[in-house]
Amino acid sequence: MSCAPSLVDSFGRTISYLRISVTDRCDLRCRYCMAEEMTFLPKAALLSLEEIAIIAERFIARGITKIRLSGGEPLVRRDVAELVRRLGRHVGAGLDELTMTTNGTRLAEHAEALVAAGIRRINVSLDSLDADVFRHITRHGDVAQVIDGIFAAKRAGLAIKINMVALKGLNEGEIAPMLEWCGSNGFDLSLIETMPMGAIDEDRADRFLPLTKVFDDLSKAFDLSRDDHRSGGPARYWRVGNHGTRLGLISPLTANFCDGCNRVRLTTEGKLYMCLGQDDQVDLKSVLRAEGVAGLDAALDTAMRLKPARHDFQIAPGGAPAVARHMSVTGG
Ligand code: SAM
Ligand code: SF4
Repeated sequence: MSCAPSLVDSFGRTISYLRISVTDRCDLRCRYCMAEEMTFLPKAALLSLEEIAIIAERFIARGITKIRLSGGEPLVRRDVAELVRRLGRHVGAGLDELTMTTNGTRLAEHAEALVAAGIRRINVSLDSLDADVFRHITRHGDVAQVIDGIFAAKRAGLAIKINMVALKGLNEGEIAPMLEWCGSNGFDLSLIETMPMGAIDEDRADRFLPLTKVFDDLSKAFDLSRDDHRSGGPARYWRVGNHGTRLGLISPLTANFCDGCNRVRLTTEGKLYMCLGQDDQVDLKSVLRAEGVAGLDAALDTAMRLKPARHDFQIAPGGAPAVARHMSVTGG
């Protein structure tokens, strides 16, 4: 274990959780996430696998105990399995947990390798169980392929949390059935409010569904009791009485929990963002390329001074995104 000082920001929050976007590319085009004609970064702009690993390992030395690989779709990056294996060596030796958020399209082929590398839990995005609604939301996705991937992951021994973005007029009638489905399959469920990140082809306000309303409806149909679990993010948790599923509500718009924030995010081109909803960043790729690993500690200390108190997300009809970059760039 390193004795390098841990990462504490200027508001006294200890940073213990790093999310890494390993690619901004994706094989789906979810309407709330991306424009149909999305422009992706040129490959030359991306961190190499080795650079991602070096940066992640410096974070581990500075006290990060949890890393989530995300994107874009992490499983479309060709060398991702190698990165998972390399970071997996730190699980139990600095890292408490290595995990991933995926859209599930390629899970069937990767699930066993993820387990072999030390991953125990994953989040899989699934906004609808209905083939037509799923295809509409993702613009061309095949829900059967994702469900196959989810069950392959379950068979491989991974614990699964389903992420579902609550979308007015699209999947709002499917939230209670999704909670039932998760309960009967042993999965947890997190519901997410759509966040104003990056330009898309529609007005997010038209699809914004406040989770306060969703929760009121769910509590009439399910026996929900508060669960004290905290992940250091904008989620609050409940247990569903009859099947024990943990229900998370990720509601940055209707409830702000930035006071307890424990995370920072590394983009695929090496920029470290200290807040999903703000533009403050430190360019770790430039530091690493100019000064080597030795330069990273000072850059991380600068980042801690720059971490803002909170996001300022708001959704209003016709309103501009709070930040220009998409969630897929920062790693959701
Ligand atoms: N492609 C993977 C997936 O979909 O799970 C990982 C990346 S995706 C950006 C991570 C999570 O962010 C997904 O659960 C997705 O639904 C969510 N997401 C993407 N854009 C969002 C937005 N604008 N507001 C809220 N959630 C969003
Ligand atoms: Fe791709 Fe995930 Fe964004 Fe959907 S939410 S377009 S799967 S990155």
